Amino acid sequence: MPKTILVFYLSIICTLVSAQVKIRLFSNQSPESALFSVTNGKYIINRFNGENLILSKGESVIIARFDGKLAVKSRNSSGFVADSIVFTGLTGNDYFSLRINLQTSIRQYYSGDLKCFPDLATLVMINICDIEKYVAGVVKTEGGSGKEIEYFKSQAVIARTYMYRYFDKHLSDGYNICDNTHCQAFNGSSADSILNLAAIETKGLVILDQDSTLIESAFHSNCGGETSSSGDVWLTGQSYLRKVIDPYCLTSRNAVWRKSMGFQEWVEFIKKSGYTGNTDDPSVFSFSQKSRLSDYRTGSFTMPLTTIRADLNLRSTFFSVVPEGDSIILTGRGYGHGVGLCQEGAMVMAEKGFNFIQIINFYYSGVIISDIKNAVILPHDMPPTSPKGGLKGE
Ligand SMILES: [Zn+2]
Ligand SMILES: [Zn+2]
Repeated sequence: MPKTILVFYLSIICTLVSAQVKIRLFSNQSPESALFSVTNGKYIINRFNGENLILSKGESVIIARFDGKLAVKSRNSSGFVADSIVFTGLTGNDYFSLRINLQTSIRQYYSGDLKCFPDLATLVMINICDIEKYVAGVVKTEGGSGKEIEYFKSQAVIARTYMYRYFDKHLSDGYNICDNTHCQAFNGSSADSILNLAAIETKGLVILDQDSTLIESAFHSNCGGETSSSGDVWLTGQSYLRKVIDPYCLTSRNAVWRKSMGFQEWVEFIKKSGYTGNTDDPSVFSFSQKSRLSDYRTGSFTMPLTTIRADLNLRSTFFSVVPEGDSIILTGRGYGHGVGLCQEGAMVMAEKGFNFIQIINFYYSGVIISDIKNAVILPHDMPPTSPKGGLKGE
Protein backbone atom coordinates (compact mmCIF):
# COMPACT_ATOMS: atom_id res chain seq x y z
CA MET A 1 0.00 0.00 0.00
CA PRO A 2 1.52 3.40 -0.90
CA LYS A 3 2.58 5.44 2.14
CA THR A 4 0.18 8.29 1.42
CA ILE A 5 -2.83 5.97 1.36
CA LEU A 6 -1.65 4.13 4.47
CA VAL A 7 -1.27 7.40 6.37
CA PHE A 8 -4.66 8.47 5.07
CA TYR A 9 -6.40 5.40 6.54
CA LEU A 10 -4.41 5.54 9.77
CA SER A 11 -5.34 9.17 10.09
CA ILE A 12 -9.05 8.37 9.73
CA ILE A 13 -8.83 5.54 12.25
CA CYS A 14 -6.90 7.62 14.82
CA THR A 15 -9.32 10.48 14.56
CA LEU A 16 -12.54 8.53 14.60
CA VAL A 17 -11.84 6.10 17.41
CA SER A 18 -10.46 8.70 19.73
CA ALA A 19 -12.79 10.18 22.33
CA GLN A 20 -9.81 11.94 23.84
CA VAL A 21 -7.31 14.52 22.75
CA LYS A 22 -3.73 14.96 23.96
CA ILE A 23 -2.90 18.60 24.61
CA ARG A 24 0.52 19.97 25.52
CA LEU A 25 0.02 22.43 28.39
CA PHE A 26 1.96 25.67 29.01
CA SER A 27 3.56 24.98 25.62
CA ASN A 28 4.99 28.47 25.14
CA GLN A 29 6.31 28.91 28.68
CA SER A 30 9.00 26.20 29.12
CA PRO A 31 8.18 25.43 32.78
CA GLU A 32 10.84 23.80 34.97
CA SER A 33 8.47 22.57 37.65
CA ALA A 34 4.77 22.30 38.49
CA LEU A 35 2.49 21.81 41.46
CA PHE A 36 -0.22 19.23 40.68
CA SER A 37 -3.28 19.34 43.04
CA VAL A 38 -6.36 17.10 42.92
CA THR A 39 -9.48 19.30 42.87
CA ASN A 40 -12.02 16.52 42.30
CA GLY A 41 -11.99 12.71 42.24
CA LYS A 42 -8.88 10.61 42.83
CA TYR A 43 -5.61 10.02 40.97
CA ILE A 44 -3.02 7.23 40.93
CA ILE A 45 0.67 7.39 40.01
CA ASN A 46 1.88 3.91 39.03
CA ARG A 47 5.49 3.37 40.01
CA PHE A 48 7.73 0.70 38.46
CA ASN A 49 8.58 -0.67 41.95
CA GLY A 50 4.91 -1.35 42.62
CA GLU A 51 4.54 1.35 45.27
CA ASN A 52 1.64 3.18 43.74
CA LEU A 53 0.77 6.60 45.03
CA ILE A 54 -2.92 7.47 45.46
CA LEU A 55 -3.89 11.14 45.59
CA SER A 56 -7.25 12.29 46.95
CA LYS A 57 -9.01 15.61 46.65
CA GLY A 58 -6.88 18.42 48.13
CA GLU A 59 -3.58 16.49 47.89
CA SER A 60 -0.66 17.89 45.92
CA VAL A 61 2.55 16.72 44.26
CA ILE A 62 5.54 18.75 43.11
CA ILE A 63 7.20 17.66 39.86
CA ALA A 64 10.50 19.19 38.78
CA ARG A 65 13.10 18.57 36.12
CA PHE A 66 16.16 17.06 37.77
CA ASP A 67 19.31 15.83 36.05
CA GLY A 68 17.52 14.83 32.85
CA LYS A 69 14.79 13.06 34.85
CA LEU A 70 11.83 14.06 37.01
CA ALA A 71 11.95 14.57 40.77
CA VAL A 72 8.54 13.90 42.33
CA LYS A 73 7.55 14.77 45.89
CA SER A 74 4.27 14.68 47.78
CA ARG A 75 3.70 15.84 51.34
CA ASN A 76 3.14 12.41 52.85
CA SER A 77 5.74 10.34 51.04
CA SER A 78 9.44 10.38 50.42
CA GLY A 79 10.32 11.75 47.04
CA PHE A 80 11.41 9.65 44.08
CA VAL A 81 13.03 10.13 40.69
CA ALA A 82 11.46 8.82 37.45
CA ASP A 83 11.92 9.06 33.69
CA SER A 84 8.26 10.04 33.32
CA ILE A 85 5.05 9.89 35.33
CA VAL A 86 1.35 9.62 34.57
CA PHE A 87 -1.44 10.86 36.83
CA THR A 88 -4.41 8.62 35.99
CA GLY A 89 -7.92 9.59 37.12
CA LEU A 90 -9.77 6.80 38.93
CA THR A 91 -13.38 7.98 39.24
CA GLY A 92 -14.25 9.19 35.71
CA ASN A 93 -14.89 12.68 37.10
CA ASP A 94 -11.35 13.70 37.95
CA TYR A 95 -10.05 17.25 37.92
CA PHE A 96 -6.72 18.78 38.86
CA SER A 97 -5.05 22.17 38.99
CA LEU A 98 -1.53 23.11 37.90
CA ARG A 99 0.71 25.92 39.06
CA ILE A 100 3.95 26.17 37.15
CA ASN A 101 7.36 27.26 38.44
CA LEU A 102 5.88 27.64 41.95
CA GLN A 103 6.52 31.36 42.15
CA THR A 104 3.76 32.18 39.65
CA SER A 105 0.29 32.84 40.93
CA ILE A 106 -1.42 31.42 37.84
CA ARG A 107 -3.39 28.32 38.68
CA GLN A 108 -5.24 26.55 35.86
CA TYR A 109 -7.82 23.77 36.11
CA TYR A 110 -7.98 20.65 33.94
CA SER A 111 -9.87 17.37 33.63
CA GLY A 112 -8.67 13.88 32.70
CA ASP A 113 -5.13 12.49 32.98
CA LEU A 114 -1.71 14.11 32.91
CA LYS A 115 1.56 12.74 31.55
CA CYS A 116 4.85 14.45 32.46
CA PHE A 117 8.39 13.92 31.15
CA PRO A 118 11.52 16.06 30.89
CA ASP A 119 12.75 17.51 27.63
CA LEU A 120 16.00 19.38 26.99
CA ALA A 121 15.17 22.53 28.95
CA THR A 122 11.60 22.05 30.06
CA LEU A 123 9.05 19.93 31.87
CA VAL A 124 6.63 18.59 29.24
CA MET A 125 3.04 18.19 30.46
CA ILE A 126 0.43 16.46 28.28
CA ASN A 127 -3.22 16.47 29.30
CA ILE A 128 -5.27 13.53 28.04
CA CYS A 129 -8.73 15.06 27.99
CA ASP A 130 -12.24 14.15 26.88
CA ILE A 131 -12.82 15.85 23.51
CA GLU A 132 -16.04 17.65 24.47
CA LYS A 133 -14.48 18.98 27.69
CA TYR A 134 -11.54 20.25 25.62
CA VAL A 135 -13.97 21.93 23.18
CA ALA A 136 -15.76 23.70 26.06
CA GLY A 137 -12.38 24.84 27.41
CA VAL A 138 -11.38 26.33 24.04
CA VAL A 139 -14.71 28.16 23.85
CA LYS A 140 -14.08 29.54 27.36
CA THR A 141 -10.66 30.79 26.22
CA GLU A 142 -11.48 32.08 22.72
CA GLY A 143 -15.26 32.54 22.68
CA GLY A 144 -15.50 36.07 24.06
CA SER A 145 -18.26 37.56 26.17
CA GLY A 146 -21.47 36.26 24.55
CA LYS A 147 -24.42 35.17 26.64
CA GLU A 148 -26.63 33.04 24.36
CA ILE A 149 -26.18 29.29 24.13
CA GLU A 150 -26.72 29.28 20.33
CA TYR A 151 -23.70 31.60 20.01
CA PHE A 152 -21.57 29.26 22.16
CA LYS A 153 -22.78 26.26 20.12
CA SER A 154 -21.45 27.98 16.97
CA GLN A 155 -18.11 28.49 18.78
CA ALA A 156 -18.04 24.85 19.96
CA VAL A 157 -18.56 23.55 16.39
CA ILE A 158 -15.79 25.87 15.15
CA ALA A 159 -13.35 24.76 17.89
CA ARG A 160 -14.15 21.07 17.23
CA THR A 161 -13.69 21.52 13.48
CA TYR A 162 -10.31 23.16 14.05
CA MET A 163 -9.22 20.42 16.47
CA TYR A 164 -10.03 17.60 14.02
CA ARG A 165 -8.51 19.45 11.06
CA TYR A 166 -5.23 19.78 12.96
CA PHE A 167 -5.46 16.56 15.02
CA ASP A 168 -2.10 15.36 13.64
CA LYS A 169 -0.28 18.67 13.90
CA HIS A 170 2.00 17.58 16.78
CA LEU A 171 1.73 13.80 16.37
CA SER A 172 5.49 13.43 15.90
CA ASP A 173 5.96 15.20 19.26
CA GLY A 174 3.70 12.70 21.06
CA TYR A 175 0.52 14.75 21.32
CA ASN A 176 -2.24 16.16 19.11
CA ILE A 177 -2.42 19.86 19.71
CA CYS A 178 -0.76 22.56 21.81
CA ASP A 179 -2.52 24.99 24.12
CA ASN A 180 -1.39 28.28 22.64
CA THR A 181 -2.39 30.19 19.54
CA HIS A 182 -0.01 28.13 17.38
CA CYS A 183 -2.92 25.63 17.47
CA GLN A 184 -5.87 27.04 19.42
CA ALA A 185 -5.79 28.70 22.83
CA PHE A 186 -6.85 26.45 25.74
CA ASN A 187 -6.52 27.69 29.32
CA GLY A 188 -8.11 24.65 30.91
CA SER A 189 -11.56 23.32 31.73
CA SER A 190 -14.74 25.35 31.70
CA ALA A 191 -16.80 25.57 34.88
CA ASP A 192 -19.54 27.47 33.03
CA SER A 193 -22.65 25.30 32.63
CA ILE A 194 -23.76 27.10 29.42
CA LEU A 195 -20.41 26.50 27.69
CA ASN A 196 -20.35 22.87 28.79
CA LEU A 197 -23.92 22.37 27.54
CA ALA A 198 -23.02 24.04 24.21
CA ALA A 199 -20.26 21.45 23.69
CA ILE A 200 -22.44 18.49 24.74
CA GLU A 201 -25.46 19.54 22.64
CA THR A 202 -23.27 19.83 19.51
CA LYS A 203 -21.30 16.67 20.29
CA GLY A 204 -19.38 15.41 17.25
CA LEU A 205 -20.63 18.16 14.92
CA VAL A 206 -18.12 19.79 12.55
CA ILE A 207 -18.23 22.05 9.49
CA LEU A 208 -17.51 20.42 6.12
CA ASP A 209 -17.09 21.90 2.66
CA GLN A 210 -18.73 20.50 -0.50
CA ASP A 211 -16.02 17.80 -0.72
CA SER A 212 -16.74 16.68 2.88
CA THR A 213 -13.38 17.93 4.14
CA LEU A 214 -13.09 19.91 7.36
CA ILE A 215 -13.09 23.64 6.68
CA GLU A 216 -10.54 26.20 7.87
CA SER A 217 -12.86 27.50 10.57
CA ALA A 218 -11.43 31.02 10.77
CA PHE A 219 -13.07 33.65 12.96
CA HIS A 220 -12.34 37.09 14.30
CA SER A 221 -13.76 39.59 16.78
CA ASN A 222 -15.66 42.06 14.56
CA CYS A 223 -15.75 42.43 10.75
CA GLY A 224 -16.87 46.07 10.72
CA GLY A 225 -19.93 45.25 8.59
CA GLU A 226 -18.26 43.21 5.86
CA THR A 227 -16.12 40.06 6.21
CA SER A 228 -12.92 39.60 4.19
CA SER A 229 -12.41 37.11 1.41
CA SER A 230 -9.61 34.74 2.50
CA GLY A 231 -7.85 35.31 -0.83
CA ASP A 232 -7.42 39.01 0.00
CA VAL A 233 -5.88 38.28 3.41
CA TRP A 234 -3.94 35.04 3.01
CA LEU A 235 -3.58 34.76 -0.80
CA THR A 236 -5.28 31.37 -0.64
CA GLY A 237 -8.94 31.62 -1.54
CA GLN A 238 -11.48 29.19 -0.11
CA SER A 239 -14.95 29.16 -1.61
CA TYR A 240 -16.54 29.05 1.88
CA LEU A 241 -14.46 32.03 3.13
CA ARG A 242 -15.86 34.70 0.88
CA LYS A 243 -17.03 38.21 1.59
CA VAL A 244 -20.33 38.49 3.50
CA ILE A 245 -22.18 41.75 4.24
CA ASP A 246 -22.85 41.67 8.00
CA PRO A 247 -25.54 43.97 9.40
CA TYR A 248 -25.35 42.45 12.89
CA CYS A 249 -22.05 43.73 14.35
CA LEU A 250 -22.30 47.44 13.46
CA THR A 251 -23.02 48.69 16.97
CA SER A 252 -20.94 46.17 18.92
CA ARG A 253 -17.93 46.99 21.08
CA ASN A 254 -15.26 46.55 18.39
CA ALA A 255 -17.24 48.00 15.45
CA VAL A 256 -15.15 51.15 15.01
CA TRP A 257 -11.69 52.42 15.94
CA ARG A 258 -9.60 55.51 15.39
CA LYS A 259 -5.86 56.14 15.42
CA SER A 260 -4.13 59.51 15.13
CA MET A 261 -0.54 59.97 13.88
CA GLY A 262 1.58 63.05 13.38
CA PHE A 263 1.78 63.98 9.70
CA GLN A 264 5.61 63.70 9.69
CA GLU A 265 5.39 60.28 11.35
CA TRP A 266 3.06 59.14 8.57
CA VAL A 267 5.37 60.58 5.88
CA GLU A 268 8.35 58.72 7.33
CA PHE A 269 6.37 55.49 7.47
CA ILE A 270 5.14 55.77 3.89
CA LYS A 271 8.59 56.76 2.53
CA LYS A 272 10.17 53.81 4.31
CA SER A 273 7.57 51.65 2.57
CA GLY A 274 8.78 52.88 -0.87
CA TYR A 275 6.73 56.02 -1.52
CA THR A 276 8.69 58.61 -3.56
CA GLY A 277 5.96 61.13 -4.46
CA ASN A 278 4.91 64.53 -3.13
CA THR A 279 4.94 64.92 0.66
CA ASP A 280 4.06 68.65 0.87
CA ASP A 281 0.35 68.31 0.33
CA PRO A 282 -1.34 66.10 2.99
CA SER A 283 -4.41 65.62 0.81
CA VAL A 284 -2.49 63.28 -1.54
CA PHE A 285 -2.63 60.66 1.24
CA SER A 286 -6.43 60.67 1.50
CA PHE A 287 -7.84 57.19 1.09
CA SER A 288 -11.39 55.98 1.54
CA GLN A 289 -12.70 52.44 2.10
CA LYS A 290 -16.48 52.23 1.93
CA SER A 291 -16.24 48.56 1.03
CA ARG A 292 -13.20 46.40 1.86
CA LEU A 293 -10.23 46.84 -0.52
CA SER A 294 -6.96 44.90 -0.52
CA ASP A 295 -4.48 47.78 -1.17
CA TYR A 296 -3.84 51.34 -0.04
CA ARG A 297 -3.44 53.57 -3.10
CA THR A 298 -2.21 57.13 -3.69
CA GLY A 299 -1.23 58.14 -7.23
CA SER A 300 0.79 55.27 -8.65
CA PHE A 301 1.87 54.02 -5.18
CA THR A 302 0.14 50.95 -3.78
CA MET A 303 0.75 48.93 -0.63
CA PRO A 304 -1.13 45.89 0.77
CA LEU A 305 -3.42 46.90 3.62
CA THR A 306 -2.35 43.77 5.50
CA THR A 307 1.23 45.16 5.54
CA ILE A 308 0.10 48.55 6.87
CA ARG A 309 -1.99 46.80 9.53
CA ALA A 310 0.98 44.69 10.67
CA ASP A 311 3.53 47.54 10.58
CA LEU A 312 1.34 50.02 12.49
CA ASN A 313 -0.29 47.38 14.72
CA LEU A 314 -3.81 48.36 13.64
CA ARG A 315 -7.01 46.62 14.71
CA SER A 316 -8.07 45.85 11.11
CA THR A 317 -7.31 46.55 7.44
CA PHE A 318 -10.77 48.14 7.00
CA PHE A 319 -9.81 51.82 7.46
CA SER A 320 -9.73 55.18 5.69
CA VAL A 321 -6.93 57.78 5.81
CA VAL A 322 -8.03 61.34 6.60
CA PRO A 323 -5.46 64.21 6.74
CA GLU A 324 -6.46 66.72 9.42
CA GLY A 325 -4.18 69.69 10.23
CA ASP A 326 -0.81 68.35 11.40
CA SER A 327 -2.19 64.86 11.80
CA ILE A 328 -3.22 61.84 9.83
CA ILE A 329 -6.34 60.17 11.24
CA LEU A 330 -7.00 56.52 10.49
CA THR A 331 -10.71 55.78 10.92
CA GLY A 332 -11.28 52.06 11.05
CA ARG A 333 -13.99 49.42 11.30
CA GLY A 334 -13.84 46.01 12.97
CA TYR A 335 -11.18 44.05 14.87
CA GLY A 336 -9.23 41.12 13.46
CA HIS A 337 -8.43 39.69 10.03
CA GLY A 338 -12.11 39.73 9.04
CA VAL A 339 -12.11 36.20 7.57
CA GLY A 340 -14.89 33.72 8.42
CA LEU A 341 -17.22 34.09 11.39
CA CYS A 342 -17.58 37.52 13.04
CA GLN A 343 -17.95 36.81 16.78
CA GLU A 344 -19.73 40.03 17.73
CA GLY A 345 -22.12 39.65 14.78
CA ALA A 346 -22.78 36.02 15.75
CA MET A 347 -23.57 37.11 19.34
CA VAL A 348 -26.20 39.55 18.03
CA MET A 349 -27.64 36.91 15.68
CA ALA A 350 -28.07 34.56 18.67
CA GLU A 351 -29.77 37.35 20.66
CA LYS A 352 -32.16 37.84 17.71
CA GLY A 353 -33.13 34.18 17.82
CA PHE A 354 -31.00 32.58 15.09
CA ASN A 355 -29.72 29.09 15.96
CA PHE A 356 -26.09 27.92 15.62
CA ILE A 357 -26.74 26.28 12.24
CA GLN A 358 -28.13 29.52 10.81
CA ILE A 359 -25.23 31.50 12.31
CA ILE A 360 -22.58 29.17 10.83
CA ASN A 361 -24.30 29.13 7.43
CA PHE A 362 -24.47 32.92 7.39
CA TYR A 363 -20.69 33.39 7.77
CA TYR A 364 -19.36 30.29 5.93
CA SER A 365 -20.73 30.02 2.41
CA GLY A 366 -22.10 26.69 1.16
CA VAL A 367 -20.92 24.54 4.07
CA ILE A 368 -22.45 21.42 5.64
CA ILE A 369 -22.74 20.83 9.40
CA SER A 370 -22.33 17.13 9.97
CA ASP A 371 -20.98 14.49 12.35
CA ILE A 372 -17.19 14.01 12.25
CA LYS A 373 -17.72 10.42 11.06
CA ASN A 374 -18.90 11.84 7.70
CA ALA A 375 -15.69 13.84 7.20
CA VAL A 376 -12.97 12.93 4.75
CA ILE A 377 -9.79 13.50 6.75
CA LEU A 378 -6.82 14.90 4.87
CA PRO A 379 -3.72 12.69 5.01
CA HIS A 380 -1.12 13.92 7.49
CA ASP A 381 1.56 14.49 4.85
CA MET A 382 -0.73 16.67 2.71
CA PRO A 383 -1.32 19.60 5.06
CA PRO A 384 -3.78 22.26 4.04
CA THR A 385 -2.03 25.29 2.60
CA SER A 386 -3.83 28.21 4.16
CA PRO A 387 -2.41 29.67 7.35
CA LYS A 388 -3.85 29.23 10.79
CA GLY A 389 -7.33 30.63 11.08
CA GLY A 390 -9.35 31.36 14.09
CA LEU A 391 -7.19 33.85 15.89
CA LYS A 392 -9.20 36.81 16.90
CA GLY A 393 -7.26 39.99 16.41
CA GLU A 394 -5.01 38.45 13.76
ZN1 LIG B 1 0.54 23.89 18.18
ZN1 LIG C 1 -19.40 41.48 11.61
